[in-house]
Amino acid sequence: MTFHLKKQFLVSESALNKVLSVCRTCGGHCENVVKFAKGTMVCVASVCSQGHVFEWKSQTCHNSMPWSNLLVSSAVFFSGASFSKTVQIFNINLQMFSMRTFMTIQSAYLVPATINVWETTQAEMLEKRVGQSLTLGGDCRCDSPGYSAKYGSYSLMDLQTNEVLNVQLVQSNEARGSTHMELEGLKRSISHLEENDISLKNLVTDRHVMVKKFMREQHPNTDHYFDVWHVAKGVTKKLKKLEGCAKKKGGEVIRPWIKSASNHMYWTSMSSGDDCGLKRAKWSSLVNHVADKHEGHSDLFPHCQHHPTDRDWLEKGSRPHKMLTAVVQSPYLMKDIGKLSPVRQTYGLEVYHNIVNHFASKSNHYFYTSMLARLYLAAMHYNENSNNAKVVTKDGQQKWHISFPKAKKGSEVVVKPCKTPPTYGYVALLLQAAIDRRLDVPNHLAASQEGKEIMGEIPSPITHSFVAVDKSELIQNHRSRFC
Ligand SMILES: [Zn+2]
Ligand SMILES: [Zn+2]
Repeated sequence: MTFHLKKQFLVSESALNKVLSVCRTCGGHCENVVKFAKGTMVCVASVCSQGHVFEWKSQTCHNSMPWSNLLVSSAVFFSGASFSKTVQIFNINLQMFSMRTFMTIQSAYLVPATINVWETTQAEMLEKRVGQSLTLGGDCRCDSPGYSAKYGSYSLMDLQTNEVLNVQLVQSNEARGSTHMELEGLKRSISHLEENDISLKNLVTDRHVMVKKFMREQHPNTDHYFDVWHVAKGVTKKLKKLEGCAKKKGGEVIRPWIKSASNHMYWTSMSSGDDCGLKRAKWSSLVNHVADKHEGHSDLFPHCQHHPTDRDWLEKGSRPHKMLTAVVQSPYLMKDIGKLSPVRQTYGLEVYHNIVNHFASKSNHYFYTSMLARLYLAAMHYNENSNNAKVVTKDGQQKWHISFPKAKKGSEVVVKPCKTPPTYGYVALLLQAAIDRRLDVPNHLAASQEGKEIMGEIPSPITHSFVAVDKSELIQNHRSRFC
């Protein structure tokens, strides 16, 4: 099947009439009758005065389905676009199929093809790691903040190779509410790896309370570390709050130390190996350092390692110093400082979650299988592009571009290495899989049914647990309140 490699053209109705107005048999004039359009395809019949009939279709079909219906649907789905927006683009009187047709093709061919390709790709990745003990990063993405999230997706990434190895989708009604989704996702991810004879040497996550407890109790042989970015973000937030709410009480003197505290945390984690005590000692020394005291910190870390500097020091024992000390040396934080990841961080997972946002916008609603397929699409895109080569100039110099990080609101400018543009090799695989699936199961109802069987058991929709409602009564109530 190579039809999908052929070019496609937009043809206006008048241009089409021009071609078909001449009889191919006698050269006489024909009246063109557009018989019908089926999605992207137009099917015409022309008759001349001699009665010669000519029938023509604008593309090839498989049974009754025009192939371009599958192609356009695939292009929309595999690129992470939304069909409703795409329809608006086609709103130039361009012949297109309905949302209903798109949904049918999506569930019958595109979702099963995506799941199939991901599972094959994933099996190859796991096969290469059989018997190994890995350093993994894990994180959960919720589709909305707080307690209202419907889906949580848990992802495990091989931090050595920067590849997403496992993605689990948890619906809130599967896990005693949205707060339990993260732990449930992690449990499933770990089980899946263990079933494939892969174990966890190190796991790097944020400081999720349930995850901490679970790892401590159920996986004592895995070293569980905390991602520095997450911990530093928490401390920065607390210090900013202090600085903000305590302005009247001299809290603004804390401001210059917020960035320093974050840097100090990175340095602490990177320079102490696996020595929990040393990490705590180094971190804790910050409260002396900010007060211009650089010696006599502790036995493990007796003095600062920096060159002499001149800063706006805090006065030891002053109110701002006490407030900063309370944050830096809070027992809860100190406990976790010992577990700051010395290995690798989970930044890649943040990038992956941004890609998920592209494939599954938080403002749209998706059914379970469609959501799962979108997570897999994002994982395939990430895995193909996460290690994109850095661009170098002709004389071998690294190329850089200037960037203004959004979080800094223009107050900071950084340079980032230029990388080669993304590639989409996975889309070619997916398209082929969708075509093969159509050829195997030409009836989309049967294909949808078979797709459900491939998926196995999926959680029942959350709405099933809601109380049945009387719509007309609701409308009545609404009117009486607002009219
Ligand atoms: Zn004719
Ligand atoms: Zn110092």
